[in-house]
Amino acid sequence: MDYKKLADILFPDVTDTPEDIYAKYPKRELPEGAAVTRMAPSPTGFVHFGSMFPTITSERLAKQSGGVFYLRIEDTDAKREVEGGVEDIIETFRYYGIEFDEGATVDGDKGAYGPYRQRQRKDIYHVFAKELVLAGNAYPCFCTEEELADIHTQQEAQKANFGYYGQWAKWRDRSLEDIEAALAKGMPYVLRFRSQGSVEHKIKHTDLIKGDLELTENDIDHVLLKSDGIPTYHFAHVVDDRLMGTTHVVRGDEWLSTLPFHLQLFDTLGWKRPKYLHISPLMKMDGDSKRKLSKRKDPEAAMSFYRSEGYPVDAVYEYVMTTLNSNFEEWRRANKEASARDFKFSHKKMSVSGSLFDQDKLTDVSKNVISAMDADTVYEQVTAWAKDYDKELYDILTSDENRAKSIFAIGRGGNKPRKDLSAWKDVRDYVSIFYPTIFKAENTFPDNVKEASLVLSDFAKTYNENDDMDTWFSKIKEICVKYGYAEKTGDYKKEPEKYNGHIGDISSVIRVAVTGRTNSPDMYAVMQIIGREETLKRIDDAIEFLNR
Ligand code: GLU
Repeated sequence: MDYKKLADILFPDVTDTPEDIYAKYPKRELPEGAAVTRMAPSPTGFVHFGSMFPTITSERLAKQSGGVFYLRIEDTDAKREVEGGVEDIIETFRYYGIEFDEGATVDGDKGAYGPYRQRQRKDIYHVFAKELVLAGNAYPCFCTEEELADIHTQQEAQKANFGYYGQWAKWRDRSLEDIEAALAKGMPYVLRFRSQGSVEHKIKHTDLIKGDLELTENDIDHVLLKSDGIPTYHFAHVVDDRLMGTTHVVRGDEWLSTLPFHLQLFDTLGWKRPKYLHISPLMKMDGDSKRKLSKRKDPEAAMSFYRSEGYPVDAVYEYVMTTLNSNFEEWRRANKEASARDFKFSHKKMSVSGSLFDQDKLTDVSKNVISAMDADTVYEQVTAWAKDYDKELYDILTSDENRAKSIFAIGRGGNKPRKDLSAWKDVRDYVSIFYPTIFKAENTFPDNVKEASLVLSDFAKTYNENDDMDTWFSKIKEICVKYGYAEKTGDYKKEPEKYNGHIGDISSVIRVAVTGRTNSPDMYAVMQIIGREETLKRIDDAIEFLNR
């Protein structure tokens, strides 16, 4: 076979050689050991939460080693692409504080190793496709859908392995004349890889997460270029990773099955293989069994969920870190103030079998992150969130910034900050205590205080908004004594028969009346913020409720 002739027939317009292309993608000048990593999503319209795991792994590998982390848009499958998909990816990662050194941007590209959208790289792929044809490593295949289906049926009947390979590969060894005739008829074709592999052979591969693997060699003549000349993922990513200088490919382990083909492509093209980190999908418990976090069933599978619920960006990052590296939490306990990016991430600490999505853990992590923020930060983040997701709350909070900040200041700072908020969606309920227009009394009074309404009217009579905390509290104690409740819980515990209850019960009655609920931030602080009139109004309402 005259491969030169075949290459010229198939790619008459390709005049560049691989050397011309290499010259445009010089070796990167980076410190020894620097990793070049990438995030390579397809714009299919939904950024999956699971993608944060390879993304943050890639980001850490590059940033910690003084390397480069870039964004490449893998848009070769135009059929699955959704409008705005690229913008959504870029915006989502920007929102979550993932910074790319290079890559696709909303209005173009940043960096010297682009273009970073695969559809714009068609000519480059063709140079290497032609190179493969020239060396006898690729050939055109004119099989129709029906013929391929027919091959499949026959393989099924003969219990043979499925796929286009060996004797089933009808166009693998066809003559140049046959090819020219098919071209002359205008028959559409794909370009296939001519695999020299055999399923009898095993190849050894060391994955940085999965460890030493023995994989079956690829014998399938996979498609490199589709009939419209656009490459498949397999071919495109290999070319891109070579030219863009990727040193570590971090991706989902669904690609492990086609890894032998990818390795074969690197070898055939004479390129150094990158290192691989294949990550298991994010799982979730469903009853007693584990399953993949599903786009269809689980709202938390979408990145947009964390934004709309108002999990702070730092909390999401922190949660992913907790899940990725088993020693992160221990480090966090010892380094409470540090940025999560100061943690020394190691791929060696990653789980081989994959992580489990844990909503309780996320809630915990997020509560900690929020409790460590100062009131100004909380105010800024809550209002930024509420502007998009709860306009009424936004208006309420921004109508008096100082008041909102003093609410968020309650219980902050100190060794044991309160942890009322797990996400900004909790803020409405939390602050409703302070805003009459959204306040709702739950009226969950303790049953054991029979004198509840008397307690409240006594409290109202002596209430003075100018009292300091001690004076205010001593008045509550006087009420305790009056109704036979112990001033100290300890006294009650020692001799319960002597009392009707203790100070906690009396406080509880006042708390439920004034804050509307059993569990609230510091009651004195609440009264100071809502003011005399509102405090007394709530007490009146509570008395009315109790006397009903
Ligand atoms: N475009 C591929 C995907 O969406 C990326 C795989 C890779 O990172 O190489 O899964």
